[in-house]
Amino acid sequence: MSDCLFCKMISGDIQPDTVYEDEHVLAFRDINPQAPTHILIIPKEHISTLNDLDPGHANIMGQLYLAARKIAEDEGIAGPGYRTVTNCNADAGQTVFHIHMHLLGGRNMGWPPG
Ligand code: AMP
Ligand code: ZN
Repeated sequence: MSDCLFCKMISGDIQPDTVYEDEHVLAFRDINPQAPTHILIIPKEHISTLNDLDPGHANIMGQLYLAARKIAEDEGIAGPGYRTVTNCNADAGQTVFHIHMHLLGGRNMGWPPG
C-alpha cells in the first residue's frame, strides 16, 4: 500500500523510533504519547481495520500479542501492568488505516476508557 504511513515505515521510506522488529511485526514509539510508555505494534502485512480480518490472519494477530508481551517486559511495565488497544473506524477514533495495537503503560489507566 504505497499511500499508507505504516507501510512506509515497514518499507523503510519513513524511519520510526523502532523498539522491536521481527519477521511478522514492527513496533515503534507513538509520536504523540498518551502514557509514559506508548508503543504501536503493527503487522508487516497491510490490513486496514479489524473489520478486514479473516481466519488467515489468526497467526499475525497472535504475533502482535506476543510482541506486546515481550516489549512490556523490556519496558519494565509487565509487572505493574499495561493496556493494549486497537481502535476500529470512526467511533473508536482510528486515524491510521493499517491495523495497529497501542501498548500503553507507566501510569494508572482509567476505566471505562473515553
Ligand atoms: P489510531 O488513532 O488508533 O489510528 O492511532 C494512530 C496513532 O498513530 C496515533 O496515536 C498517532 O499519534 C500515531 N502516529 C501518527 N503518525 C505517527 C508517526 N509518524 N510516528 C509514530 N506514531 C504516529
Ligand atoms: Zn499499510
